[in-house]
Amino acid sequence: MEEKLIFEISSDSKKGYTLPALDVQAKDINELIPEEFQRKSDAELPQVSEPEAVRHFVNLSRKNHHIDKGFYPLGSCTMKYNPKVNEETAKLDGFRNVHPFEDERFVQGALKLMKELEEYLCEILGTDVVSLQPAAGSQGELSGILIAKRYFEKLGEERTAVIIPDSAHGTNPASVSIGGFKAFQIKSNEQGKLDIEEIKKYVDKNTAVLMVTNPNTLGLFEEQIFEISEIVHSRGALMYMDGANLNALMGITRPGDMGFDIMHVNLHKTFSAPHGGGGPGSGPIGVVERLEPFLPVPRIIKDGSSFKWNYSYKNSIGKIHSFFGNFSIFVKAYTYIRILGAKGLKEVSENAIINANYLLKKLEKHFSIPYKDYCMHEFVASGENLKEYGIRTLDVAKRLLDFGFHSPTIYFPLIVKEALMIEPTETESRSSLDSFAEAMIKIKEEAEKNPEVLHSSPQTTPIGRLDEAKAGRELDVKYDK
Ligand SMILES: *Cc1c(COP(=O)(O)O)cnc(C)c1O
Repeated sequence: MEEKLIFEISSDSKKGYTLPALDVQAKDINELIPEEFQRKSDAELPQVSEPEAVRHFVNLSRKNHHIDKGFYPLGSCTMKYNPKVNEETAKLDGFRNVHPFEDERFVQGALKLMKELEEYLCEILGTDVVSLQPAAGSQGELSGILIAKRYFEKLGEERTAVIIPDSAHGTNPASVSIGGFKAFQIKSNEQGKLDIEEIKKYVDKNTAVLMVTNPNTLGLFEEQIFEISEIVHSRGALMYMDGANLNALMGITRPGDMGFDIMHVNLHKTFSAPHGGGGPGSGPIGVVERLEPFLPVPRIIKDGSSFKWNYSYKNSIGKIHSFFGNFSIFVKAYTYIRILGAKGLKEVSENAIINANYLLKKLEKHFSIPYKDYCMHEFVASGENLKEYGIRTLDVAKRLLDFGFHSPTIYFPLIVKEALMIEPTETESRSSLDSFAEAMIKIKEEAEKNPEVLHSSPQTTPIGRLDEAKAGRELDVKYDK
């Protein structure tokens, strides 16, 4: 399994390519780049042949788990398979090489794509208008919260609280406090859903927003959402939907129709742009008509048959990203939506739901499922019943690597002890779901009969079990024999 650093296989005599001899007059470098901007010494880059470079990176990629290698049941993050055709369209010259300072007249195609993507998202989300500008789900949340703030300022109402259920994603309370509100947490009920009585008790004239994830992070659909929207609206507050993962709803139902006034959706999760290692991402926000004046600028407008940027919205919350957002992600999402169409997007949701329920049924005899119900795109199991053998959820997660699977998200949501959040996603075949279930059941048997194996796993990966805190804080990427 040894793979040297690329610098260790480098030598001055090696070259990755040979260029043909120059057939034009050579120019002195000083004519092209002023001396002050020239390097004073050569860049310290490795020198290897082309096959060495290719093998080096292919071998490295085999040391890690990734979606092109195997199943990845990583809940919430929707690390789903992203169609390769998205990369092809994002790579087209006219998309890849546009510059944000280019005159609008010369980038009409790019503007049209953005405008149409906004319209498609309005249709899918059920909101009146969309802005593509936020660069991530969390930035969409912050933008939405700032819009709520501006809205109540204009109304002359002083509302200071945003109410969030205890199953929420950690970014929700963070965005709320950065946006200048107080995050107020309410308890979920025994079914793991929003508790109407709690909402009646706490939503008052001080409440600006109720911030909800539906389906929630337990993978459960909030059936009482209409009633909840009514209560919240009757007290003058707004409904915010965290729509980071929409692949259980698309084509089946729409947050706008459930009474949500503001929402974000993650293009890099639901609409298939790879985002491992931190991005880039895109978290467009959709709002109802009366919140439109507050959306970030610039906005794309249609002027006759051409498209233009418009900055003149005096009540806008302003700019929240350089230029117009992460354009390459728009191209990927646009491609995904156009290829699937309305029917295909609905099938995505149906497959995500049926895959999750299939796994739930296969695993429920072996792992405890604290909030039992039909699930949407994900469900949360608990490793609590393995504690008697001295096994924690972390051990299960590590052992899965030996079976060729990535671990699901663990220890989230916080309201489930020893949580294993399993989201198979819509693209997995029945046979890959079966193999994953088999591995999970085998691990459960090992926990009962042979718990030492789990404690010393993973055993087949290049590096075994690390001290997680130490590995994070004292990063050592040098391979040492
Ligand atoms: C991923 C996620 C977020 C945050 O999105 P980022 O793009 O990572 O900032 C918020 N809420 C939920 C439910 C998520 O899954």
